[in-house]
Amino acid sequence: MIFKASYLKLNKEGRLRDIAENLYNIYESCVLCPRKCRVNRNKGEKGVCRAGASVKISSVHPHFGEEKPLVGRNGSGTIFLTNCNLLCVYCQNWDISHIGEGKEISDEDLAYEMIRLQKLNCHNINFVSPTHYLPNIVRALIYAIELGLTIPLVYNTGGYERVEIIKMIEGIFDIYLPDFKYWEGRMSSLYSCGAEDYPERAKKAIKEMHRQVGVLKLDERHIAQRGLMIRHLVLPNDLAGTKEFVEFVFDELDPGTYVNIMSQYHPSYKANSFPELSRKPTTSEYTKAILAARDHGLFNLD
Ligand code: SF4
Repeated sequence: MIFKASYLKLNKEGRLRDIAENLYNIYESCVLCPRKCRVNRNKGEKGVCRAGASVKISSVHPHFGEEKPLVGRNGSGTIFLTNCNLLCVYCQNWDISHIGEGKEISDEDLAYEMIRLQKLNCHNINFVSPTHYLPNIVRALIYAIELGLTIPLVYNTGGYERVEIIKMIEGIFDIYLPDFKYWEGRMSSLYSCGAEDYPERAKKAIKEMHRQVGVLKLDERHIAQRGLMIRHLVLPNDLAGTKEFVEFVFDELDPGTYVNIMSQYHPSYKANSFPELSRKPTTSEYTKAILAARDHGLFNLD
């Protein structure tokens, strides 16, 4: 059966335009994410993420380093958006997320970039850090559909989301790819620019994403069509709270949820200012994290 991206139905029903308009209205007093800065981005005011009202991108290309179900043979069509609403002290892409290095483009040009990736046979359009540019993305999607876009969209987020906004975009993204970074607000406050409510916000948002798209479904080529994929970066000294996170997935989502327990943490940007973050996790710490996931009954591990 040929898979059809969900947004095609929304567009046919004429609902995509309403969602784009409602999201654009939020720029007048931005509450797109839990920071709720209430700045008027249309007038050039900047909130915590420092993003304006025009979308800014740092790069667009087929990416072969993402999870296998996203990459397939031809790559995940990745669009790296600048700025970020979480601003972690150990960010590996700090030049893009903290400094905002990139170029501003129109929503129409963002649509052309999506079409270019589809023409390169990418399996999906993977928006990295989409939260603060959602209005632009949805408007660009409308143009892209007119130009023939049909491949699924991936919402690749740090997980600091408002559940109300995730509800607003139901039916647009077939694949949600959130991080779950910390179990304790003490850690998110310290390492992610005062975001003490991160664990609660991320849990609520991820539950809503799961409600919308369910566990990951692959096609006959083992390429992701629709579903939730969660990333969990193991931090040294168990700062991420892996055991509690996997319990949450088992108890409140589904044991078959696709979970990528990642080992690649290394101290970047300002991490060395925090002694507990200034080293890679040991092999034993990583193994313990994987075993915790298996012991808690998760069976769809990357
Ligand atoms: S998206 Fe940016 S400006 Fe809007 S509430 Fe979040 S951090 Fe503030």
